[in-house]
Amino acid sequence: MALKKTRTMCTTCHARCGVLVYSDEDNRIVKIEGDPDNVKSKGVICGSGMSEREIHNNLEGRLLYPMKRVDWDPKGERNPENRGKSEFERISWDEAMDIIADECLRIKEEYGPEAIITGQGTGRVANHWHCRINSSLGLEGWSLVPTHVCLMPHILPNAFTLGVFSSAAGDMRNAHCAVLWGQNPAMETAWCKEVFKNQAAGITKLIVIDVRFQDMSKHADVALQPRPGTDAALALAFMHEIIEHGWYDPEFIENWTYGFDELAERVKDWTPERAAEICQVDADDIRLAAEYMGNWGPVGMCIGLGPGCMHTNAIQNGRAIACLQGMLGYLDVKGGIPVPLSFSVMLDDKITLWDSQKDPGRPELFTFGGEEHPLYKSFGRSNDPHAVFNAIITGEPRPVKAYIAIANDPLLCYENTNLTYRAMTSPNLDFVCVKDFYMSPTAKIADLVLPSADWSERYSYDEELDGNFLFTFDKAVDAPGECWCDWQFFLEWGKRIDPDNWWWNDVQEMVLWRMREFYGFDLTWDEFQSEKYRSTEPGGKQGEVVEKKYEKGLLRPDGSLGFPTPSGRIEFWCESLAAFGYDPLPDFEEPAESPVSTPELAEEYPLVVVTGIRIYSFFHSAWTNTPAQRKMYPDPFVMIHPNDARKYGITDGEWVTVESRVGHMISKAYVTREIKEGVVGVPRPGWRDECKELGLPGYGWDKANGNVLIPSTPAEPGYGATPMRSSLVKIYPGRGDL
Ligand code: SF4
Repeated sequence: MALKKTRTMCTTCHARCGVLVYSDEDNRIVKIEGDPDNVKSKGVICGSGMSEREIHNNLEGRLLYPMKRVDWDPKGERNPENRGKSEFERISWDEAMDIIADECLRIKEEYGPEAIITGQGTGRVANHWHCRINSSLGLEGWSLVPTHVCLMPHILPNAFTLGVFSSAAGDMRNAHCAVLWGQNPAMETAWCKEVFKNQAAGITKLIVIDVRFQDMSKHADVALQPRPGTDAALALAFMHEIIEHGWYDPEFIENWTYGFDELAERVKDWTPERAAEICQVDADDIRLAAEYMGNWGPVGMCIGLGPGCMHTNAIQNGRAIACLQGMLGYLDVKGGIPVPLSFSVMLDDKITLWDSQKDPGRPELFTFGGEEHPLYKSFGRSNDPHAVFNAIITGEPRPVKAYIAIANDPLLCYENTNLTYRAMTSPNLDFVCVKDFYMSPTAKIADLVLPSADWSERYSYDEELDGNFLFTFDKAVDAPGECWCDWQFFLEWGKRIDPDNWWWNDVQEMVLWRMREFYGFDLTWDEFQSEKYRSTEPGGKQGEVVEKKYEKGLLRPDGSLGFPTPSGRIEFWCESLAAFGYDPLPDFEEPAESPVSTPELAEEYPLVVVTGIRIYSFFHSAWTNTPAQRKMYPDPFVMIHPNDARKYGITDGEWVTVESRVGHMISKAYVTREIKEGVVGVPRPGWRDECKELGLPGYGWDKANGNVLIPSTPAEPGYGATPMRSSLVKIYPGRGDL
């Protein structure tokens, strides 16, 4: 039988690998393989991507039709006390979309648009349309996203320091010093083997900084395992060494940076010994890593969420690392840190309907938690989750009446889950709607549940993480049942509440409009498919990177030379951050909760928990019911060092309870030297859906969910990041009451 071959992209995680999907006449996926012509992923895909065949063909646990809770009537009794208890009944998409539109218009009329929360997650490539629907609702910004802990606290210091709104993922294939900071690319990216090859040829030095001695640490020339939340101290010590030894380019510093003398003064006392004591690493390892960074350029860095995101000192950690990158100077060069331009497309006013001339931090714009965390209000452009959940429960400072979650499971993704659960089951909420692939913990307590199409089943995609490439993508198979992609969902929703701004007929039209509007490609769908990828670089040919754009006037809106910062230079001294109450120079602050800052608390909770540790299956909280993925990790587990296991009477493989001052969870103990002594590692996700095919039980949000352990206060002062990777816990044998 002839198979259809479709070139598209897996969007399960941020790696966005190119794939070829082979399907048969019965709409079944027969084979998936990596696309060798994809210049980014070069034919590599992971097990999660491969399991799309099972996700599409087997349908275990998939939601297939819109469903409404039987005893929830938007025009009559709502029975909120029955959330999570009563059955669901199938309804049509028309009915579902009418309910959503009517509820939104009613609530907006009665309480104002802020009473509608639209929660958004990641991985379903519709962030920008989500912003547009918010604008159509009369909201401004993201409504509710977990960007207080995810990516943005790391991106934002880059934006302040380098002027680049980017995660600054290095060109590791060509780096001579490859620095992985809280990143394990062995799980998902194609360039690891090239790093190893270069390393074996004596070209590249590999530095891995991670609380976990992970896959890449085993191959590193220097592997550092700093205490969680102390990464700024490490970066300051690296800069100390680089300045002390003159391992920087004075011409670059002179021409393109601002505040170097002040920074030099700041790091003068940050000796390797001082940082070593704080970070609990070896001072000689700090010295050696700095020597490699200073002498083996170009230096490419890949930085994960661990160092600069999920801590009460997240912004300063990210700032110190961004300054280190600026000092090394390998920006927008081969083997250094590429400076892509296309990341910002998703935030373009033409898509979001925002007015960029308006300051999102202006006092007259209300956001939940905006006064407490002004940096988050201005740059996160989202309500603060802690403030939202409190507002649902108390009605203060304003009521929240609807929560519509798209690619978002608040019971799993936010800290302090017990608070979130109280909010999501509160009778104060008139309407809870969840659009997802399967019956997630939050879907179970929703009033309306909507089914989603996965990446092989939809036309939609976005290029926000693909640097200067615009890859071809297409729908490989029809979505099962009545699963809709999110783009279609937003389009139908928009047509009902704001038709003038949602004029497209279908998703393909939306994609082609975007190609034309932002990149000047005026294409039919078939023409779009005719090339494997296109370049989005100004002046670049297909797939060609334009280097040192700051020297060519390509980074600043007015076309002048330099970086897109107020000074036009890399800002070691940052007035913009000072305006938000931050030290204008990078510095180290001890995490709000730690054995050092709260020794009394540490007497009862002596270990530091790091949640969200990456494993080879699943993405965020998804696909724990997919046999191919679940097989690898049947039960939730936590990682604990053998010395700690001995100390707390824990045996490998037994059930243990991990407890913090705000909650507790269970998991099986994995006793391993991979994790630093004094740390409990909680992989992502902890929870498990039931997997019938393998006969494996589920472990709900209240059983094996690391976020139950994480307090929502105190948080990072300006940005509101919570300590998902630096809170105190204790561990003991047994499941207790769970
Ligand atoms: S899940 Fe795997 S195949 Fe899919 S994008 Fe991520 S790394 Fe690539």
